[in-house]
Amino acid sequence: MPHSPEDLARALATAQHAIVLTGAGISTESGVPDFRSKGGLWERYDPMVAGSLDMFVRDPKEFWSFHRPRYEQVDAVEPNAAHRAVAELERRGVVKALITQNIDGLHQRAGSVDPIEIHGSLTGGRCLRCDVRVSRDELLARADAADDGVPRCNCGFQLKSHVVLFGEMLPPQAMEEMFVQAECADMILVIGSSLVVSPVADIPAIVLQNGGTLAILTEGETPYDGRAQVRLRTKAAETMALVVAALDQLTA
Ligand code: ZN
Repeated sequence: MPHSPEDLARALATAQHAIVLTGAGISTESGVPDFRSKGGLWERYDPMVAGSLDMFVRDPKEFWSFHRPRYEQVDAVEPNAAHRAVAELERRGVVKALITQNIDGLHQRAGSVDPIEIHGSLTGGRCLRCDVRVSRDELLARADAADDGVPRCNCGFQLKSHVVLFGEMLPPQAMEEMFVQAECADMILVIGSSLVVSPVADIPAIVLQNGGTLAILTEGETPYDGRAQVRLRTKAAETMALVVAALDQLTA
């Protein structure tokens, strides 16, 4: 029998240390295209190439012609009910930590405080040569002011945003926080991730090994489908709104 939002609410209500892990699927419902979406940027660019550290170093103009519009993509959308539900569950103390693969900042705009962003974020920029940091506004202002669209440091080197590029190491501090949370968790709720990209793909296994509960709310298949105690394949936004409502019923 298919699981319901009420099943998910019950699992969350009984957990002592529930954590949430989100992937592209939660933000595609807000209109953020993911790598597999047809049309737009991903049709014109191969993100593995255009969004790589190699391209950033070798051809910053090409890199920024791909990278700059991603800021507009994110500015043009709003967090949805799933982002808001996660933030609400954090506020209530039901969810202790949020790990995200997304770089779009929609969790923060929905009210989440300090999510663990393992792929970085579309925020400010940094010079890889002299480590000078600039704000998001400063980064974009410099990109827009440059003839070739490349934001540069005062030292002359091109600035990189805080997004983790293909070919770049994942941020060690975020990695550490993610694994600590996985070890502490007695429940993990996965939303909109297909759980195929490492190291995120390893996180549910840690929770399961420690005797915890796995819930998955992802439309497509995941390698963990057979091991999830709660498995929902419905839309994240509408489902998570129902989960919060069901929790209200349970605690009323
Ligand atoms: Zn510099």
